[in-house]
Amino acid sequence: MPHAYPFLTPEQKKELSDIAQRIVAPGKGILAADESTGSVAKRFQSINAENTEENRRLYRQLLFTADDRITPCIGGVILFHETMYQKTDDGKPFPQYLKERGMVVGIKVDKGVVPLAGTNGETTTQGLDGLYERCAQYKKDGADFAKWRSVLKITPTTPSHLAIIENANVLARYASICQMHGIVPIVEPEILPDGDHDLKRCQYITEKVLAAVYKALSDHHVYLEGTLLKPNMVTAGHSCSHKYNSQEIAMSTVTALRRTVPPAVPGITFLSGGQSEEEATVNLNSMNQCPLHRPWALTFSYGRALQASALKAWGGKKENGKACQEEFVKRALANSQACVGKYVSSGASAAGGESLFVANHAY
Ligand code: 13P
Repeated sequence: MPHAYPFLTPEQKKELSDIAQRIVAPGKGILAADESTGSVAKRFQSINAENTEENRRLYRQLLFTADDRITPCIGGVILFHETMYQKTDDGKPFPQYLKERGMVVGIKVDKGVVPLAGTNGETTTQGLDGLYERCAQYKKDGADFAKWRSVLKITPTTPSHLAIIENANVLARYASICQMHGIVPIVEPEILPDGDHDLKRCQYITEKVLAAVYKALSDHHVYLEGTLLKPNMVTAGHSCSHKYNSQEIAMSTVTALRRTVPPAVPGITFLSGGQSEEEATVNLNSMNQCPLHRPWALTFSYGRALQASALKAWGGKKENGKACQEEFVKRALANSQACVGKYVSSGASAAGGESLFVANHAY
């Protein structure tokens, strides 16, 4: 076994770990606002808003310009390529605007999923070609972290060994490319909630997937202190007849993470995966109250669970801007409390208890 040839200087390592720490500082999490144009189409359709570039800019601007109550809650914002190059009404590029508010700018760099031949509907994620050059450009344009989503499915025959190994390797390859450019990679192996499996099966699969991911990250010499993990919470399948409470979900999730995620990883930023806004907050809160030792920050990187009420309140209408921002602030504050285990439920917001599940979710 040859020894590693160091690819990061001590200064580069410090930069990466400082970025990661800032994103998951106590009380902070991530706003995932990186829905692809196709995903926005579905969201906008639900409120009868037209999916134009200007409408996407206006909606994202509402989120980014919510008042200062969000600054202690939102450590980072993930942008889609188009948003990275859009500006506020007064002409300031969004990345610059967010940075001035103390939020770290992130960019989705994957290019979506494609079928893995010879599997039962499994996928790998594409986007490695040209990623080295794209990361160099994004860093210049203000991005300090990135996201790459891999997708795994639970059925009686999946995830296959091939899907686990392939997705782990692609995530590791992506992570090492990001780090060469001073970009903190968010490693996202999402196990979809589709199916009728129970909590134990999800925990078992989550452990196998995460173990493979950390083996691949080690093989690719990824500097763990300069990464974040974005996993699913361990939950039963969406069509499972038994309903588990948030303490059971928290115990299974933290157990799976403790068995597989090294303490060198500074933070774990969960995706909401179709949970209702309230469920996502309550489950996160329970993790941070869980009696097991947790060496990493456990926080949020929510898309749907931060935006559903805000989107509904906006309804694509200019006059609803304030109402939209108010709903977003509510969820940001609630999740900020949940990531330090201090959330106390205080009635629902516009979409608070509504399931946000989408079958076979694409991003
Ligand atoms: P949800 O929180 O809506 O699952 O999305 C988060 C995300 O970024 C998935 O890649």
